[in-house]
Amino acid sequence: MFHKILIANRGEIAVRIIRACKEMGISTVAVYSQADRDALHASLADESYCIGGNRVGESYLNMMAILSVAELTGASAIHPGYGLLAENAKFASLCEKCNIKFIGPSAEVITKMGDKDQARSIMKKAGIPIVEGSDGVADENEALKIAQKAGFPVLIKARSGGGGKGIRLVEKEKDFKKAFAFATAEAQAAFSDGAVYVEKFLRPVKHIEVQIICDDYNNVVCLGERDCSIQRNNQKIIEESPSIFLDASTRKKMFEDAINAAKAVGYRGVGTIEFLVDSQGNYYFIEMNTRLQVEHPVTEMVTGIDLVKWQIRVAAGKELAFSQKDINFFGHAIECRINAENPDKNFMPSAGKITLLHIPGGPWVRFDSALYQDYFVPPFYDSMVGKLIVHAATREEAIRKMKASLCELVIEGIDHNKDFLMDILSHPKFEDGTYTTDLVTGGVR
Ligand code: ADP
Ligand code: ADP
Ligand code: MG
Repeated sequence: MFHKILIANRGEIAVRIIRACKEMGISTVAVYSQADRDALHASLADESYCIGGNRVGESYLNMMAILSVAELTGASAIHPGYGLLAENAKFASLCEKCNIKFIGPSAEVITKMGDKDQARSIMKKAGIPIVEGSDGVADENEALKIAQKAGFPVLIKARSGGGGKGIRLVEKEKDFKKAFAFATAEAQAAFSDGAVYVEKFLRPVKHIEVQIICDDYNNVVCLGERDCSIQRNNQKIIEESPSIFLDASTRKKMFEDAINAAKAVGYRGVGTIEFLVDSQGNYYFIEMNTRLQVEHPVTEMVTGIDLVKWQIRVAAGKELAFSQKDINFFGHAIECRINAENPDKNFMPSAGKITLLHIPGGPWVRFDSALYQDYFVPPFYDSMVGKLIVHAATREEAIRKMKASLCELVIEGIDHNKDFLMDILSHPKFEDGTYTTDLVTGGVR
């Protein structure tokens, strides 16, 4: 097992990983930006080092600074969390070269799946249904032909896109050429890769994803699904497991396909296969996330498996101690993302000092966050400041528990989306589980 791990991230996920390490007897090294001098992850870790300025390019994406700290402190592994360097194949390969274990799949697998268009063709070859669209990246004329064949509306997607960015909706053929030029320029600016591909825009659809975990010994275990259809601007807001929308036979097929997808790429570690599911129950692969997911606690609640600990163990070469037949799903779990933003002002991000904080408690209530009283939320990073997760025997009870817990949560000093989350939880389509990705307006632009 690793004796010391560097956590190349910040916020709640850095705290989550440090906690897992502490329980496992592994020493922790935190890195932080100047703005994060007082951040919780920096004080919870055994050692902490400032690696640069406030912008992520200067600090959390500064590969050389991070690797230098790992070398100097003798950390034998780096956990990248999610976002930032988690799906950066160059960083994974630099770690490999420095003989530091990157806690995630190989650089080769990250490259394959990070290229969303190549991922589509790998899945297609493996017999997994994909959304109708391009076979490879397309130039403007090819792309238009594909769009005409698939039928409008279509999405133009950045090959290297992620985090809900790099997706453009084209409703009508007359708008296609202009949209294509915009999408290409946007993709180039955001991901330093202008390549795009086309997908038919499916609606209404559910976003249902499947969690898998794989070790070095060809063991692939599926840990169930999460319904992540509550989204705004293609970013998830509320996630739940199980999805009451899936019938047993569709669920079974999706699990089998997720396992096949992992095997098709020789996957190792935790990963998520994202699918869209239409009203007839047809499902289509959209992408694979080769990392720990924001919403992983939902799966932990219904399986009883600590995904971060197992992610660390399999990275260290341990064999999974459970097989598919050992996995039992119990009860229902829901997660709400608490964002520092103002829903009444077009979700404008909010920064400032936390003047009052009360965290809800009680049985099966979990709050993953890096907030504390008097902490100053800096303006430089992702607006998600916490995740409230509840677990109960039934979905109805879980919804009631989430509402009661949200009511109890007090965060003063910054704007946040608590009331907005409450509105969604009370929506009839959330209550009956029929909601699709367009429930929250502003979905795919
Ligand atoms: P999940 O699929 O785990 O729900 P999200 O899509 O919400 O993850 O992304 C998690 C975090 O990672 C967010 O902060 C998001 O902005 C960021 N992120 C993910 N992929 C990328 C990417 N390719 N480029 C920039 N940010 C990304
Ligand atoms: P990212 O890498 O940014 O997470 P995804 O390809 O996973 O991008 O798409 C993000 C979201 O956009 C999905 O969860 C879904 O809501 C929507 N979306 C993506 N592809 C399609 C599609 N072909 N039809 C309808 N909605 C889609
Ligand atoms: Mg996605």
